[in-house]
Amino acid sequence: MRSSWRIGRILGIAIRIDSSWIVIFLLFSYVLAGSYYPRSLPGASLSLHWLLGIATSVLLFASVLVHELAHSIVAIHNGEKVKNITLFLLGGVAQISEEPKEPFKEFRMAIVGPLASFVLAVVFFAVSVVIRGASAAGAAVAAYLAVINLSLGVFNMLPGFPMDGGRVLRSIVWKLTGDLRKATRVASVSGQAFAFLLIVFGVLRILRGDFGGLWFILIGWFLHNAAVRGYEQVVVKSMLEGLRAEDLMTTDFVSVAPDLRVQSLVDDYILKKRERVFLVMSGPELGGIVCLEDVKATPRDRWPSATVAEIMTPREKLESVPSSADGSAILNRLTTKDIHQIPVIDGGRIAGVICRNDVLKALQLRSELGV
Ligand SMILES: [Zn+2]
Repeated sequence: MRSSWRIGRILGIAIRIDSSWIVIFLLFSYVLAGSYYPRSLPGASLSLHWLLGIATSVLLFASVLVHELAHSIVAIHNGEKVKNITLFLLGGVAQISEEPKEPFKEFRMAIVGPLASFVLAVVFFAVSVVIRGASAAGAAVAAYLAVINLSLGVFNMLPGFPMDGGRVLRSIVWKLTGDLRKATRVASVSGQAFAFLLIVFGVLRILRGDFGGLWFILIGWFLHNAAVRGYEQVVVKSMLEGLRAEDLMTTDFVSVAPDLRVQSLVDDYILKKRERVFLVMSGPELGGIVCLEDVKATPRDRWPSATVAEIMTPREKLESVPSSADGSAILNRLTTKDIHQIPVIDGGRIAGVICRNDVLKALQLRSELGV
């Protein structure tokens, strides 16, 4: 369910469709063609029901896109970069490069999405009223889209992070307290509470024999995770604020030969010198880096036979950063690329090494000291 396809570009933003969208597209067309249109247009043929079902799904897709484009346009106006918009199972996501830097910017960016959905609801409602006499089929399509856009707007305005309404709530608390972290906590707890209510509602529906309740449980679970994760990200980010690569790196690293056995790396280097990171040098050349994490990932019975060169991260796979690189950007790279260490290189020379543990240790120290 990870793959997505690029279908075009609007205002310089790549528009992508996640593979899960195909599932929801087919499901929507099927439900519309099999249930909604036979009820609202009983005289029409089966093929017309399907045609209208597919057309409505396409227009629903366009409506979600308008909602996300509204967020993106304000984000670009705020000076952010929008990488792409991906439409997936539960709606759409605009990939915006940074979190907003001011409460008012976040407020505007968040509220404009639901506003776009409400405007679409009004427009589709007006269309359905105007063309009712001329085309019953067109009016039925417009009426359905009015209802679905209204629900999209209302659902997104639920005041829980990371929903748009949660972001609106966060920006208001942020403005009142001046504290982004506190504001995110309030919006995240509220998001978790709404997620919990959705799950309870879903369970109650299932107990009454309606398995549509499963959807509410799924969405509630998804929202709960997103609310918790959103808060953690902000906390980590604010704790790493102002830290640069040079504050996080180890500078007194020791070098070892590539043919050294892992067992002697453990006995003679890690335990004796109490170091965690070693540069693997073949002569004057950097061959790679070996960290305590690499040793831990190697089964103990392989330690006597395996060499350092076999378990190290080779130079060509190492990502490097300059000593001025930002702390949260480094953690982002360590986690999203799933790597254990990044060498810090200034002007072609190694200045230090940052292990994932160094970043975590820095976070732990800062939280213990309350700074
Ligand atoms: Zn939105």
